[in-house]
Amino acid sequence: MAEDIRDTVILGTGCAGLTAAIYTARANLKPLVLEGHEPGGQLSITTLVENFPGWPDGIQGPELIENMRKQASRFGAEFRLGHLATADLTKHPFALNLGRETVHARTLIIASGASARWLGLPSEQALIGHGVSSCATCDGFFFSGKEIAVVGGGDSAMEEALFLTRFATKVTLIHRREHFRASRIMLDRAIAHPKIAFMTNAVVQEVLGVDSKEVQGIRVLDTKTGVESDLAVSGLFLGIGHIPNASMFAGQLDLDEDGYIKTHNNVFTRIPGVYACGDVQDRRYKQAITAAGTGCMAALEAEKYLEEHGH
Ligand code: NAP
Repeated sequence: MAEDIRDTVILGTGCAGLTAAIYTARANLKPLVLEGHEPGGQLSITTLVENFPGWPDGIQGPELIENMRKQASRFGAEFRLGHLATADLTKHPFALNLGRETVHARTLIIASGASARWLGLPSEQALIGHGVSSCATCDGFFFSGKEIAVVGGGDSAMEEALFLTRFATKVTLIHRREHFRASRIMLDRAIAHPKIAFMTNAVVQEVLGVDSKEVQGIRVLDTKTGVESDLAVSGLFLGIGHIPNASMFAGQLDLDEDGYIKTHNNVFTRIPGVYACGDVQDRRYKQAITAAGTGCMAALEAEKYLEEHGH
């Protein structure tokens, strides 16, 4: 059987991957875009996106993603469902094992994103988008004048809690330990904020409101006393970190201590012809527009690489 060799394979259909798809398709590279378990990435699980330039009244996350996808298709990007099982980046073209088939790529753009870490409670999962969120900048606005809770003890949780004070009347920060992982400055800011209250040694046991399809509160266990209590809140935000979807490249690409792909000059990995963009390599900005920006950079670099190698 003839080998399926592509000039460019893009891994991921979030903002970074689709932007890379638009650019490489428009450059006539006929990119193959592999769509994994979370099609559309994080934008597809959010609601109104108000900070993506060009949409003065905002745009729904799923609609924005759908538009990008149409735009990429219009220029000839090919989409295929495919979860990357393993990759061999020691060979060129790179071999991408999708389980039932292997695709070969002269350039690979990794835009596999990062997945929010959730608590894993069934009630939490049932209420995602109905008061449970992992993105304060996306969804905070909907909690104007309401009380909410944020879970986590790192910088993300502090940042979310501080951001949410713009909207909420009260933010209760719930952390499972006494000590915080957050930087001193972020923690101090949160402690000093009059709208933020702290609950430490506290673990969320259940999100209340599954029947009404709307968060009504949370049940919290005090791990020191063993006492459970209910806290009436309209929203629950998880700030317990993201997990970059890069583990399949461990040992072949450099990953940092939290599993993000290490890049230099924005999108270059240690292997020529392999680029990483968006949240799989960005631990700092994590915005749709920055993901789109690095997706564009990766596409331009892939195009340049192919040109320099005579393709
Ligand atoms: P993080 O530092 O790993 O903190 C995650 C927090 O969530 C920890 O406090 C952890 O508790 C808690 N947690 C994890 N799993 C949990 C679970 N299942 N149930 C309850 N709590 C759980 O992650 P992050 O806050 O997203 O930060 C990631 C990196 O980005 C850090 O290097 C951070 O400095 C950086 N960052 C910086 C800024 C900034 O400077 N403005 C903003 C955001 C992020 P334990 O402490 O008990 O493990």
